[in-house]
Amino acid sequence: MKNIKDYNLEDLKNELKGMGEKPFRAEQIFKWLYDEKVESFDEMTNLSLELREKLKENYTMCNFQILKKQESKDGTIKYLFDVLDGNAIETVLMRYHHGNSICVSSQIGCKMGCKFCASTGINFIRNLSSGEIVEQIIKVEQDTGERISNVVFMGIGEPLDNYDNVVNAIRRINHPKGLNIGARHISISTSGLVPKIYQLAEENIQCTLSISLHATSNEKRSSMMPVNQTYPIEELLQACRDYIAKTNRRISFEYALAKDNNDNLEDAKQLVKLLKGMICHVNLIPINKIENGQFDKSSNENIMKFRDYLNEHGIVATIRRELGSDIEAACGQLRRKNL
Ligand code: SAH
Repeated sequence: MKNIKDYNLEDLKNELKGMGEKPFRAEQIFKWLYDEKVESFDEMTNLSLELREKLKENYTMCNFQILKKQESKDGTIKYLFDVLDGNAIETVLMRYHHGNSICVSSQIGCKMGCKFCASTGINFIRNLSSGEIVEQIIKVEQDTGERISNVVFMGIGEPLDNYDNVVNAIRRINHPKGLNIGARHISISTSGLVPKIYQLAEENIQCTLSISLHATSNEKRSSMMPVNQTYPIEELLQACRDYIAKTNRRISFEYALAKDNNDNLEDAKQLVKLLKGMICHVNLIPINKIENGQFDKSSNENIMKFRDYLNEHGIVATIRRELGSDIEAACGQLRRKNL
């Protein structure tokens, strides 16, 4: 069956026309789905009984079930959602002073194979549909009764490896009749799928692009992130320059610091050279150790020295606050589950 949450407004209007209904019904349905966040067609009381029956016959509501909910001492909540096909994914709600941020998953599993990340491995199952991406936000808003103001595509999966669904989801998250979250409050993080970065630059979406850089030489980056063998640093940074030129948006580079691997001042120096002249920001992430992982977290002292070096040499750098590490909800700690 088709998922009613997979449609944008125009497509849903066409679906309804095809059923002999007036297109404005699509707007009513959008209101029930994205404002009222109802869980069944029966609750859509301004639709005729007949239409509700027709909808039930043809579409699912895609109601993710909460299998598990863990709350960290810092207020972060990690959800394990049953995605209704025997798989489960994780979604994280982070509470900041400036509002609530949600970290959504875009795939069940991941193909990228980054050596430091628990989401990866041989266990790629499938892409999430746009409706399944949006559903994570709906369920968390519904469960907490709190408004979400920021969305980051930093959960399980490589968002640009599920390009169409992620872009469609963003359009619905952003749409005034959808979840109505400003595009500037939406970030996509990518391990660096170069052709897709060029494509994204053409979409005319004002979202923020984050690049997982993590190393300054191809040798080291390839040893941490196999994707670098296909799209090496020079090609990646060229795509970033193009993205900045086309969108006028600042790029955010993520750099996870691992002890004795990529955290000395020589690395910082190389990073300054690589990023010179780009409108960007560097987000330093103290690496989170994963099960059987070969990387350890850098010392606080090294992390601060690294940040200070960048700031003193014209690159704006901040250290990402670690949230939810006590419930394995921090960067790189999310994984898919079998039911
Ligand atoms: N696939 C996307 C989104 C992944 S997660 C990407 O690669 O960008 C978001 C960020 O967390 C990425 O920068 C990722 O490299 C980083 N990350 C993954 N594992 C980590 C770990 N163990 N410690 C710290 N950051 C990690």
